[in-house]
This record gives sequence, structure tokens and C-alpha cells, in this order.
Amino acid sequence: MLGLRGHIPALWSITVSNAMLLLVSGLIWLGYRRFFGKVAGHDRLFALLGALIWGALACDQGLFADINFRTYVISAMQFAYLLVLSLELVRQCRKERLPALALTLMVIVFQQAMLIARMIYIFFFPLDPSITSLPSGNLIGLTLIGTMAVLVLSGLLQMALVAQRSERRFRIAAETDELTGLANRRCFLNEVLPRLADRSDRGALALFDLDHFKRINDTHGHLIGDRTLIEFAYILAGAAPKNAVTARVGGEEFALFLPDASVATATILAEHIRQLTHAYRLDTAKGELRFTVSGGVAGVAEVGSDYESLNSAADFALYKAKSEGRNRVAIHRPDPPTPPLTFSRTSDRGQPASAAV
Ligand code: GH3
Ligand code: MG
Ligand code: MG
Repeated sequence: MLGLRGHIPALWSITVSNAMLLLVSGLIWLGYRRFFGKVAGHDRLFALLGALIWGALACDQGLFADINFRTYVISAMQFAYLLVLSLELVRQCRKERLPALALTLMVIVFQQAMLIARMIYIFFFPLDPSITSLPSGNLIGLTLIGTMAVLVLSGLLQMALVAQRSERRFRIAAETDELTGLANRRCFLNEVLPRLADRSDRGALALFDLDHFKRINDTHGHLIGDRTLIEFAYILAGAAPKNAVTARVGGEEFALFLPDASVATATILAEHIRQLTHAYRLDTAKGELRFTVSGGVAGVAEVGSDYESLNSAADFALYKAKSEGRNRVAIHRPDPPTPPLTFSRTSDRGQPASAAV
């Protein structure tokens, strides 16, 4: 309609076409808001506001007849929509790490720069206010080409955004334990194995297993059992330092990997988690529920950086904590070095005769 200026009535080419341009700007902003899950009641009105203001200004034919005035107004209103959109994008970029979001922001900023450049240009080189046809030349040419390019690019980026978001959501779902929100076993291994490979001298693994959990399920039901798991996950995640990896690795089994800790530091933390759990009270319909946890700790310095060995050692310590009465933390202690064996000279079959003392 803009291109048909002079061939179709000014109402369509000036008033309606620009009102639609502003409506589209508002709808694009509204679309992104919805994509970010943020639509509020008055948002639809804000999306319409630009077109409504434009319609109201069109009633003043004196002002509206000047193409410079119209260019200022339309540029300023489009800029306002893009500004709120770019602020929205900046906020979202911090929340959701999607590459297409940052690129969209760049396109929007470019579009804002184009609008400012157009306003500055019109300020220094105003158009003849009396012209009724679309001005030809660099200004309008660049404006139209720029707008088309931005539209095509942002359309492609919108498709990329949708794809990147669903890929990210699938990945998070595949790595997260649905009940507790902690990492699952697969994600735990993905995080821990490279760290073990990087460092062979430090790090510790603590395994936790809720005590008599079957009894909790049997007495209070599975829903309370689930809540107990959630509460323990909360205690574990809250107590773990920033660089730790926490996970739910089985039904009522949890793991904590501390990349920089010695076995002694890890034991202190595991004991702290055990105490927090012991002190915790869960309100249920049948009254307060108290539950306990047992832990087993093993260190890389003692066991080595092979994950299987570390896990078996921590599991063995956990088994020890269970067998010693539960609600405790046990440490894996490597066996003392076996004394060298001596062979009797008289033993002709090469059998060990006695252990050296
Ligand atoms: P122990 O002190 O020796 O560890 O005894 P326990 O009862 O905790 O261990 P056991 O292995 O006998 O029972 C674990 C129970 O955990 C059995 C299973 O039904 C329950 N469980 C596993 N996953 C879930 C879950 O997601 N939700 C609930 N509510 N229960 C679960
Ligand atoms: Mg268990
Ligand atoms: Mg258990």
C-alpha cells in the first residue's frame, strides 16, 4: 500500500498502511511476550496502542498532511515497540541461553539504529511537506530494503528460536530427575567423568541412601514417600557447594561429587547433611515424619580416579554405615598394605610358607 502511494486513496496508502505497520510492530512484541510466557491482560491493549494513536492523529489533517511529521511519529512509535522488545530480549537472554535470542536482539538493535538514522536524516534534510507521492531515492529505498531484510531475518530467527528451545527442553528433561529436579544418573556421569579424567589427585564421592524408606512408603503412602525424596534432594542441594555435582542416582539413592575435596572434607559435609536430615520434620496427615539417611564416602586420593572403583568404594562404605545401625556416615578406608610374603627355601612346590611380620 505504501508503494501504491498516489495510485490509491491516501486513506489506504498513508493512514491504513502505517496503522497496519504499527499493529504488526505491536503484535511482534506481543508474540515474543507470549513465547516468553509473559502475556498479561493489558498487553493486547499495548499492542494495539500504536495503531490507535496513529488513527487518532490521522483526524488532525493539518499536522498529518506533513510527511516529515508522519515519518517522525511512525519512527518514534516503532522505536518504542522495538525498545520494549529489546529490553524483554535482554532479560530473556539471561534466563534462557538460546543462541537465536542473542541474534534476534542484534537484529532488533539494528532496526532501532535504522529508525534513529531515518529521524536524524529527516531532521537535517526535511522532505517537501506538500508531496503526495512516495519520495524516491536513497532514503526510501534503504528503508524498504532494510525493513524487508529485518522481517525475513527475524522470521528465520523465530523458527530457530522455537527449534532451539525445544531441543534445550528435551535435553534438560533427559538429564533431570523428574521428581526432585536434581541431575539424573546419566547427567551425573556426564559431569563427573570428565572432571575425574582432568584430575587424578583430588575429589571425593559421597553416596546417600534413605534409611528404611520402604517403611515410610508402607506407613504413609507413596505420595509422602515422594515428598520425602524431594525434601532430601532440597537438603542435599542446599548443603552442596557451588562446584559440587548432586544427583538422584536411584530410587532413594543420591550422590554428591566434590571435585576439589579430600575424603576428610567430604565426610564433614556428608555428616552435616546427615544431621540436617535427622533434624528435619515433615508434616503429614499422620503427624510429623522424621527420617534418616546413611552415607558412604570415598576419596580419589585413596581409591584412584577410576569412577567404577570410586563408586564401589563409596558403596561399600555405605553398606558399612547401614550394617552398623544406619543414620551414620562411613568412610572407605583402603586395606592396609599386605605384608610381603616370604617363601620357605625348603618348600619345593613354591607355596607361601609364612607371612613376614
Ligand atoms: P535401607 O535402610 O536398607 O536402605 O532400607 P530401605 O527400605 O530404604 O531400602 P529398600 O531397598 O528395601 O527399599 C527402597 C524402597 O524405595 C523400595 C521402593 O518402593 C522405594 N522407592 C524407589 N523409588 C521410589 C520413588 O520414586 N518414590 C517412592 N515413593 N518410593 C520409591
Ligand atoms: Mg537403596
Ligand atoms: Mg534405603
